[in-house]
Amino acid sequence: MNLIKKCNCSIDNTSYKLEDLNRLKETNPESKILKNLICPICSCKLEFHRKTDRRRAFLSTWPKEKHSDLCRFRFEYEERRNSSSSYNTLDSYLNGKEVKSKVNYMYNKMHKRNTETENSKDQKKDKHRKNPITTKKASSKKITKTRGSVRSSDSQSANSSGSRMTYREPGGITLQDSGRSITLGGILKKVNLDKTSDSDRAVLYITNDSGKTEKVYTAPAYFSQSTDGLRSRMETLSKIISKTNGQEFICLIYATLDSKSNIQLYLYEEGHMFFPKIPLGVYIYNTEQQNKKRALKA
Ligand SMILES: [Zn+2]
Repeated sequence: MNLIKKCNCSIDNTSYKLEDLNRLKETNPESKILKNLICPICSCKLEFHRKTDRRRAFLSTWPKEKHSDLCRFRFEYEERRNSSSSYNTLDSYLNGKEVKSKVNYMYNKMHKRNTETENSKDQKKDKHRKNPITTKKASSKKITKTRGSVRSSDSQSANSSGSRMTYREPGGITLQDSGRSITLGGILKKVNLDKTSDSDRAVLYITNDSGKTEKVYTAPAYFSQSTDGLRSRMETLSKIISKTNGQEFICLIYATLDSKSNIQLYLYEEGHMFFPKIPLGVYIYNTEQQNKKRALKA
């Protein structure tokens, strides 16, 4: 339906936005590009419908074409149809600011908990007593300004982040999260790369002090996206992580049920991984710089 905002063209391997296609349809309605549009994830054939004054431009599948079972656009479509849930499914087209805001929110959530456990018993009691909603007014008198302001900036960042998101730590994901976009934060312990004859897949093992581990799989089309170096960066990441005890990590993923009704977690985009707040490319660069320096000293 009209949830896909970008698609690829199978002739020129270029990504087109709806606006681009509208312009093209106006200037060159017979363009071959318009006849060779495909889903950016699963490559099923798509048809472009131009904007009219009664509706927005949108992409639909060709008759008899279907997004593959694991394509996120299929999930989105079914999710919207079957559920009244106001949770948005993972949107690859969240802008950078929205993604960052979710990552920051998760980071603060994780670190606040860490500070809480280190706090004295008195402070803990105080936090338990305080219900942020009902005692908001009263608390502003008793509670120090710093703590109050942390709370308010947290909720702001959550509200301003656009679509709603579920925040989880390893062990916290349940069947009810199926169909949801999740920001998962924990320790990245291991990255495995599976090579099969027809596809590549990476598995990320994310854990925390609870001892629970969540496995996040790259989505089936992850490595066939038209971005250079996806595989080599994942390989480098795997090597880097194997030399550490784990790295603090936050990622945006999508939860769905597999054929045996178990929760499966999928990562769709490289841009949805953070260490814990910096993107993969920067993390790799920084680590390699540090290793060079260390090698020089040695
Ligand atoms: Zn698709």
